[in-house]
Amino acid sequence: MSRYFGSKCRMCRRESTKLFLKGEKCFSDKCAIEKRNYAPGMHGQRRRKVSDYGLHLREKQKIKRSYGLLESQFRNYFMKAERMKGVTGENLLILLERRLDNVVYRLGFSASRSEARQVVTHKQIVVNDQVVNIPSFLVRPGDKIEVRGKAKGHLRIKGAIETSRKSQTVPWMEVDAAALSGRFVSYPDRSDLPAEYNENLIVELYSK
Ligand code: SF4
Repeated sequence: MSRYFGSKCRMCRRESTKLFLKGEKCFSDKCAIEKRNYAPGMHGQRRRKVSDYGLHLREKQKIKRSYGLLESQFRNYFMKAERMKGVTGENLLILLERRLDNVVYRLGFSASRSEARQVVTHKQIVVNDQVVNIPSFLVRPGDKIEVRGKAKGHLRIKGAIETSRKSQTVPWMEVDAAALSGRFVSYPDRSDLPAEYNENLIVELYSK
């Protein structure tokens, strides 16, 4: 499966917002957005009028990149969200939040979603006492997510949980930082998810 190997900070600069793709660096003054908040490339500092299509596209790219997905994966989630009952845009965000790599990141077991993906593929996570090494595994309400045995001693995971203790856990999850375990309590409400996401623009984009 293909992956994006380019600069992550470049993606933030392209979207003109922090996507928090690099863990602790994102909270330091080394963050590229703090230093150069304009689009990358030779003409990045030029002022351009953004078209209607451009607005829709940027919103889709922003959310897709935040969750570390490729176009085909993202589109599949959208199609799945369309088939579900309820509001498509909200369904899409909930599906993205249910991904195991995202849940591991939200619980504070990793500094970023890409690190969470690695933790999962390295078989360091158990869901309901079963090892799960698929980052796209969809977590359900009531599922227990835990760092596996030996991995609990890994400095990277310990460091991540220490850093995450400084911030609040999301309301739809419970975390026991000392035991390195947590629970996905319920699906998130739209009001709990980032207000700056405009999922309706994505629905409009894919419906064109
Ligand atoms: Fe984005 Fe983080 Fe890089 Fe800042 S440090 S530009 S938030 S990935």
